[in-house]
Amino acid sequence: MPEEEIVIIGAGPCGLAAGLALQNKGYNPLIIEKENVVHSIYWYPSHQTFFSSSDKLEIGNIPFSSIERKPKRHEALVYYRQVAERSQLRINSYEKVKNVLKNTDGFRVKTVTKNGQEHMYKSQYVIVATGYYDSPNIMGVEGEELPHVFHYFKEAHPYFQKKVTVIGGKNSAVDAALALEQAGAEVTVLYRGKELTEAVKPWILPDFYSLVRRNKITMVYEADIKRITPDYVFYDKKGKEYTLETEFVFAMTGYHPDHSFLHQMGVRTDSETGRPVFNENTMESNIKGLYIAGVLAAGNNANEIFIENGRFHGKLIAESIVKDNK
Ligand code: FAD
Ligand code: NAP
Repeated sequence: MPEEEIVIIGAGPCGLAAGLALQNKGYNPLIIEKENVVHSIYWYPSHQTFFSSSDKLEIGNIPFSSIERKPKRHEALVYYRQVAERSQLRINSYEKVKNVLKNTDGFRVKTVTKNGQEHMYKSQYVIVATGYYDSPNIMGVEGEELPHVFHYFKEAHPYFQKKVTVIGGKNSAVDAALALEQAGAEVTVLYRGKELTEAVKPWILPDFYSLVRRNKITMVYEADIKRITPDYVFYDKKGKEYTLETEFVFAMTGYHPDHSFLHQMGVRTDSETGRPVFNENTMESNIKGLYIAGVLAAGNNANEIFIENGRFHGKLIAESIVKDNK
C-alpha cells in the first residue's frame, strides 16, 4: 500500500492552492482528482467571463495575466494547467476517491481509476477539496429528469429560435438568459423570488433589465415550478396555475456539496446549512488530521466562498500541519 504524508482530494483551484501552500512548507502532497485539473471551471459555460479580476484568482503567488482585467474561462484553464505543470505538484487525475476511513495509524483512502482499478493509500493527513459543482440542487418536480431539462449551461447556439425556460434568479440563471437571448432563443425566466437580489453581479443587471423591458426576455417572479413535460412547464403564481410552452429547460438552481461523501468519513455537517464542522483557524474538521478546503466549507451557500477567498484555506491547513509535527 503506498504511504503518503498528505492526500488532497480534488484538483480544483482550492485543492491546488492547498498543494502549493504545503509545498511551500516542504511537503510533497499527493492530489487525487476524479477528472482533470480544475474540472469545475472546464464545466463552466464555454464563454464565461469571471466576475473576479485575474489577480484574485491567483494561487501560490504565481501571476495570472489575462487580456482583460476579468479573465475568460479558457484563460483560467491555461493558467491553472501551467501552475500545476510548473510547480510539479503530484496529481493523479482520473482517479476517484470512493471513501476515507480513519485507522489508529492514519487514514485509508480508497480510490478507483477510470479503468476500474482500485487503489488504497495510507496517509497521515487528508484534505477534502471536492467543491459542490457535481451535485446540482434538484427541485424534486415531476419531469425534472427529462432529457431536455439541464442543470448546466454550456453554449447558447443549439437554442437559436427555440422556446427556452430558465429557472432560477441568480448569476447562472441571468448569465444563461442573456446568452440565450443573444443567440436568438425565445427566453422566459421563472424565478421563485419577488425580485433579483444583490447576489447577482450588478454589471450584468442593466442589460438584463433592459431586455426584459423591451420584451426580449420574459421575466416571471414568484413562480413556483410544479411539473415539467416534454412540451410545457407548469408553475403556480399567487395560487393560480400557469402553463408555459417550452422546448428546453435550464434549471439553474445552484449546487451543493456531496454530504454523504463527508458523512462516510465521519465529518459532521449542519443539517440546515450543510456546513461541515471545522475549526475556522485551521480548517481541521471534527476528525483530527482531516481538513476541509475551498467552497466545500460553505455548505449549501454557493455565495459565501469563492476562489477569491477559498484559495487561502491551504495556508491555514499547512500552518496547522506544521504545528502538529512540532
Ligand atoms: P472545485 O473547483 O469544484 O474543485 C473540486 C474538484 O474536486 C473538482 O475538480 C472535482 O472533479 C474533484 N472531485 C470531486 N469529488 C471527487 C472525488 N470523490 N475524488 C476525486 N476528486 C473529486 N469564483 C470566483 O472566485 N470568481 C469568479 O469569478 C467565479 N466565477 C464562477 C462562474 C461560474 C459559472 C461558476 C459555476 C462558479 C464561479 N466561481 C467563481 C466559483 C468557483 O468556481 C468555485 O468557488 C471554485 O471552483 C471552488 O474551488 P474548489 O477547489 O473548492 O472546488
Ligand atoms: P445559486 O447562486 O445557488 O442560485 C441558485 C438559484 O436557483 C437561486 O436563484 C435560487 O433561488 C434558485 N433555486 C434554488 N433551488 C431552487 C428550487 N428548488 N426551485 C426553484 N429555484 C431554486 O447558483 P448559481 O447561480 O448557479 O451560482 C453558483 C455559483 O457560481 C455562485 O458562487 C456564483 O457566484 C457563481 N457564478 C459566477 C458567475 C460569474 O462569475 N460570472 C456566473 C455564474 C455563477 P433563491 O434566489 O430564492 O435562493
